[in-house]
Amino acid sequence: MSVESIRILGIDKPVSRIGLGTWAIGGWMWGGADDAASVETIRRAVASGINLIDTAPVYGFGHSEEVVGKALQGIRDQAVIATKVALEWPGERVRRNATAARIRSEVEDSLRRLRTDRIDLYQVHWPDPRVPHEETARELERLREAGKILAIGVSNYSPAQMDVFRRYAPLASVQPPYNLFERAIERDVLPYARQNGLVVLAYGALCRGLLSGRMRADTRFGGDDLRQSDPKFRQPRFGQYLAAVEALARFARERHGKSVLALAIRWILDQGPTVALWGARRPDQLNGIDDAFGWKLDAGDLAEIDAILAEHVKDPVGPEFMAPPARQA
Ligand code: NAP
Repeated sequence: MSVESIRILGIDKPVSRIGLGTWAIGGWMWGGADDAASVETIRRAVASGINLIDTAPVYGFGHSEEVVGKALQGIRDQAVIATKVALEWPGERVRRNATAARIRSEVEDSLRRLRTDRIDLYQVHWPDPRVPHEETARELERLREAGKILAIGVSNYSPAQMDVFRRYAPLASVQPPYNLFERAIERDVLPYARQNGLVVLAYGALCRGLLSGRMRADTRFGGDDLRQSDPKFRQPRFGQYLAAVEALARFARERHGKSVLALAIRWILDQGPTVALWGARRPDQLNGIDDAFGWKLDAGDLAEIDAILAEHVKDPVGPEFMAPPARQA
């Protein structure tokens, strides 16, 4: 496959513009995971040129990072590891904690689980309203100077929060939700990233599987799968989103000979300095991903896509249900 790549400040090799998201590989909130299949998925992604692997300590409370570390043994240098910091989970109740002390202990845990001596991209998972950005940023900059991390990113930050953060540490990337159905960042974060040379790691590229083309009205989710509480997956909205996916699939096939999944990823790649983070946990889910590379949507395509969305999704809703709470006073 001919992989498109992008440069991220501080990382000395090109980074693939599709990144493998490993939240589901942690099992938690995705109804469990099969570790052997996860390892094979990660190894196959790297072998096929998808070198960016995005994980986080909170994904399975350490499990996703452990599986990533195991999968990358012997091929660590081919991969770009992006992980995160600043959530804690006492009693599995997730909340924000971006204090310097928390960062200092978390980085050691992540390095150990990932079986590496450096993290390529270290991202603050969520802004913590109880901690000044200065404290968080300065601590990350100390880690960068010590060589434990190569680049600094944030996730779920507003431009105003990034403005403050950047006074104390160089910011390479921002990771917000972004896909055909979740476009709030077009108002602020995306233009800010373009203006300030940040790479946008768009998470939820398939909108938690909605844009895979595999969902049906009777699709059910088991165990602790977060889609049971995702408002997009509740009728009558679910029906609207599925109708939009069907129309997008027709458009992708008739106009470009592509799948809706490839269209969904291509669309993200055509919006600017973006990387599409897509979640997979089985090797077969990599099939056809490379179809997103090597072509482009023109202005007419983008307008038609917008018209399809406006026609079908009458009652859109965002991904806000996923935000973890701050600590209480
Ligand atoms: P996603 O990429 O939008 O969707 C993942 C879903 O797509 C899974 O349900 C999977 O199905 C399905 N899928 C993947 N490949 C497929 C294929 N080839 N055919 C059919 N279905 C396919 O969702 P996501 O995992 O939430 O987001 C991607 C990544 O972004 C995460 O893994 C994580 O790294 C990152 N993320 C970050 C944050 C943050 O706060 N920073 C928040 C959310 C996500 P199955 O369910 O069948 O496996």
